[in-house]
Amino acid sequence: MYKMSEKPLITATQIAERLDTLAQEIKAFHPEIILSVLTGSYIFTADLSRRLSSPDLQIKFIKASSYGCSTESSGKLEVSGLEGIDICGKRVLVIDDILDTGCTMESLAKILNGMGASLIKTCVLLNKESRRTVDFHADFVGFEIENEFVVGYGLDYANNYRTFPDIWTLRDENGK
Ligand code: 5GP
Ligand code: MG
Repeated sequence: MYKMSEKPLITATQIAERLDTLAQEIKAFHPEIILSVLTGSYIFTADLSRRLSSPDLQIKFIKASSYGCSTESSGKLEVSGLEGIDICGKRVLVIDDILDTGCTMESLAKILNGMGASLIKTCVLLNKESRRTVDFHADFVGFEIENEFVVGYGLDYANNYRTFPDIWTLRDENGK
């Protein structure tokens, strides 16, 4: 069984403040299309995209399921929803919830690189640098966190906890 931390790791207020500055950083890049990786990034995407508000900024949602790391270009990543999305010649901002091993984003970037975008930049709300197993860095990072399992603000554990406004740490009953 898992237990939530007594206090949030990152509060809704802290998230809102960071999103204001993050949006300023991203605006300088003038993205034309957002590719949001469901499901974990749905709240982050909604909050961030409103801060980027621009009449010609499009938004599309894709789903990525990772089955571990692979150095081969095919990877072990299943991506759905890319059919019918045209990123050719566009400036693309990929938004995901959290960068852990980095496998998901690395494989996704490889796939997107073959689709003719003029520029692809990646944005994650959270980064666990110490967990990285591949050489991948996001262009925009909301918060750096330690090696802990987090839930809330769109992030789940077995599909629960997503609707919590703050980000919490989940530990097992022994406090680990
Ligand atoms: P990666 O491919 O970078 O190892 O994994 C990234 C994906 O694993 C994230 O998009 C997320 O779905 C999941 N993940 C990694 N760490 C956490 C975490 O601490 N909490 C939650 N809820 N999901 C995580
Ligand atoms: Mg994910």
